[in-house]
Amino acid sequence: MIVGVVGSGAREHAIASVLARTADVLVTPGNPGMPGRSGEGFAIRCVDMDPEELEVDLMVIGPEAPLVDGLADRLRAKGIPVFGPGANGARLEGSKAFMKDLVARAQVPSARYGAFDDVVLAGLFLETLEGGYVIKTDGLAAGKGVLVTGDIDEARKDVRDKLSGSSFGDAGRRVVIEEAMTGPEVSLLVLCANTDAVVLPAAQDFKRIFDKDQGPNTGGMGAYSPVPVASDEVVDLIMERIVHPTLRQLALEGIDYRGVLYAGCMLTPEGPKLIEYNIRFGDPEAEVVLPRITSDFAELCLQVANGEHLSPPTISPEATVGVVLAAHGYPGTVRSGDRIEGLEKADTVKGVKVFHAGTRRDSEGHIVTAGGRVLCVSATGEDIASARGRAYEAVSLITFDGAQYRHDIAALAAQTSSNPRQG
Ligand code: AMP
Repeated sequence: MIVGVVGSGAREHAIASVLARTADVLVTPGNPGMPGRSGEGFAIRCVDMDPEELEVDLMVIGPEAPLVDGLADRLRAKGIPVFGPGANGARLEGSKAFMKDLVARAQVPSARYGAFDDVVLAGLFLETLEGGYVIKTDGLAAGKGVLVTGDIDEARKDVRDKLSGSSFGDAGRRVVIEEAMTGPEVSLLVLCANTDAVVLPAAQDFKRIFDKDQGPNTGGMGAYSPVPVASDEVVDLIMERIVHPTLRQLALEGIDYRGVLYAGCMLTPEGPKLIEYNIRFGDPEAEVVLPRITSDFAELCLQVANGEHLSPPTISPEATVGVVLAAHGYPGTVRSGDRIEGLEKADTVKGVKVFHAGTRRDSEGHIVTAGGRVLCVSATGEDIASARGRAYEAVSLITFDGAQYRHDIAALAAQTSSNPRQG
């Protein structure tokens, strides 16, 4: 089987490397870290081609933008099995207002909200909220369109900036305002074929750029799996109260969802509540969750694409920790072209796989930075502490000018859990 993968980030690198345990993989456009042969002898190749021109037995679409744009529908119309929802299901991420309205109809627990394109009505709604304000762009904003604040003046200014188009362009001309919830966050990646669903192990990611959750939000600076707070009971509860009702509602509204549903949840004092849905694997969650799958991932993706009954995957009891290295200036304006050293050495650390995100080859063939998040160093170990130790050992071997990374990824979990056999 030849599996096509659309995308070029560390998430797609992780998807391709796990698919390549049982299938040949063709990635478009891919990145310089991907090409090669897997330990099992399957090839990963990169081609810079229109995905609609590729001849493959299965297509896995990595990022949200082409899904929202209907790429899955166009490929399906050509008879290609596709892992990824059509444009109708992709609206769960493409429009936060659509998502909130749909889950409200399904009676899924989630934050109280309103959707506004009028600054006066938005201001009135803000005054009804107690204990914090959350302002989101309705449209896609690369994971950066959310403000959480306790200061109503800051909330008002953010609403004005978003609605005027000055901070996020058209994505912000409509906003969703929510009450602020509190509690630990758990993200679940659920593979779905219509109303059939299998859940992958839980992961926790780190959104802020600096240690101790300081500084601005990013696309994600690291992650680990399993998650001690995501016990089997919590996962079952999230599936029962949040994911299954959503899938039933989608089906009821004529949406045959085939792909991954990423459920970002908060474990509030009143029980788990939905924060958001993404319609693709989380990045960097994919880099720590997918390597733990020990059964045939390509076959499972094909079942999803064909809408067949899903066989639950088998999962390694080992833990995985991923640390992101970001470029100078991230998450603001980033500098590119910084030479990266030490990649081969880092890859030789036991249990480590370096996934490329924003990299390219310069004219001399050297790998240089070419994006905000540059690499994700992912390590597996017998527990979180051992995986974490290996990840940071590998990180210490990689250098480039302006490199930024967090030093506290999975630090707390490594202290509190020596038992990875859950999640
Ligand atoms: P989102 O892009 O919707 O996942 O939001 C990004 C982050 O903002 C989440 O991971 C949460 O940390 C935070 N957040 C979003 N919505 C809420 C909410 N209603 N209450 C508290 N925090 C939230």
